[in-house]
Amino acid sequence: MLPGNQQRRAVTQQRSLDSDLARALAHPVRIGILRSLLAAPAGLTPAALAESLQTTTPTIHRHLRVLRDLGAVSPPPSGARTAPARRVTLATGTLTHTLAAMLSAAGDAHSAPPALSAIAVFARIPLESVLNYLASGVAVYSPSGELLYMNPAGGRITHQNIILGEHVAERQQRFSLRLPDGTPMPEVESPSGRARRGETFADVECVITGQHGEEAYLLTSGAPLVDYQGTIQGAIVIFSDITRIKALDRQRDEFLSIAAHELRTPLTSILGTLHVLNKQVDRISIEHEGERLAFARGFARISRQSQRINKLVEDILDITRIASGQLEFTFAPLDLVAVAQEAIDGQALINPNRAIAPLLPASTVEMRGDAGRLGQMFDNLISNALKYSKESQPVEVRLAVLGNTAHLTVTDHGPGIPSEHLAHLGERFFRVPGMTVRSGSGLGLGLGLFITYNIVGRHGGKIWPESKPGVGTTFHVELPLNMKAASAATTDS
Ligand code: ADP
Repeated sequence: MLPGNQQRRAVTQQRSLDSDLARALAHPVRIGILRSLLAAPAGLTPAALAESLQTTTPTIHRHLRVLRDLGAVSPPPSGARTAPARRVTLATGTLTHTLAAMLSAAGDAHSAPPALSAIAVFARIPLESVLNYLASGVAVYSPSGELLYMNPAGGRITHQNIILGEHVAERQQRFSLRLPDGTPMPEVESPSGRARRGETFADVECVITGQHGEEAYLLTSGAPLVDYQGTIQGAIVIFSDITRIKALDRQRDEFLSIAAHELRTPLTSILGTLHVLNKQVDRISIEHEGERLAFARGFARISRQSQRINKLVEDILDITRIASGQLEFTFAPLDLVAVAQEAIDGQALINPNRAIAPLLPASTVEMRGDAGRLGQMFDNLISNALKYSKESQPVEVRLAVLGNTAHLTVTDHGPGIPSEHLAHLGERFFRVPGMTVRSGSGLGLGLGLFITYNIVGRHGGKIWPESKPGVGTTFHVELPLNMKAASAATTDS
């Protein structure tokens, strides 16, 4: 039990902290900025922060609950260490100072993680200076869309004068937003619009163009500002300038495109010459049968390897075409069963030792689509299934019709893909870490699935993987059979 004076001081200090925090929390702008800053610093995990704060006095414990309710920190891991309670130096003033006091109390502990003391120092710096020196733009909007705050970097990045109080409608006169593929971004879909509607999002790319054509690529994150009662009081958007990175991306695509075109010319000549030589080999007389067979085998090997290079070159050209929106599709009526069968036959020919089990409908499955591209989709999925499983393991290709949708699956019994990688499979150049080719040779460049996801998307369909490590992988594809969805996809081709 504390002696009387000390007890009174403790109660007064506690009240002061309560009112500081309450005042600060009632200020919606600070809540959002605090939340994003707490999420931002490197080196300190929210769990470490929560754990350290947890080990101090009951007062901090209560305020931690408030911060947790706001989503500023996540709950400590179960079995968190406990340390002796420490004296709390209470501060008056803004939330930053209050937080600084809370953090320094926790940071004094010798047992505190080293990153925490860095945060304690960080928290003592006035918020305004942090925002002034931040390289990322920070903008805060009212619920109706007026700009309440923008830091200097925000103005620099967007090449705009900061006009506080300016409304959405006025801003739209000064600049426009679009997606990187050129699609205009209406206000409701813009970062500030989404955050004001209550959405929290990260890593959304957009392009801002000013009245005089000045342009910047932005990577944006946003969140609503929610008060203690859970009411949306506005929105915060944080953005960085990725114009330079995008320019490098374009340079890489240009390089790939030029390199692929340059490789394609000699390849075409090699494949053409091989064709002619193969015909001449057939004419070698029967007395030289041994020689003829040796030539035929050699040419077949050159042909296989050249076809592999050709496939790589075509894939590289396709990804550069996708990046520039120029992947061409020719839509026409087709039979999906015939397309599937042709791809299966082709793969069986290249992989004579493999079992590919087709389960296809007996009748035709008519749809509108690009037969060549759909064949490429089957090829990519089947060749992956073969490549990433052992020679002894069969691959199954199924096609079924449910209502107006064709549902096809390609299943292997290979190693399976860990769940954390599944969402990335459709990304350009993505390869599952540690995944090795189990049969055949080669490494793979992480291009095939990106192209496949694109082909499915352009047919108005859906594709998703289902995988269990140790059991195998199934790729599911759903394609609409009705003309409307398919023709909608043709309009942008
Ligand atoms: P590539 O196979 O040429 O590298 P893809 O884009 O076709 O490129 O595949 C991307 C990555 O996804 C592969 O590198 C591999 O790590 C993983 N992957 C694709 N299909 C399978 C599969 N059936 N089983 C296991 N991993 C797969």
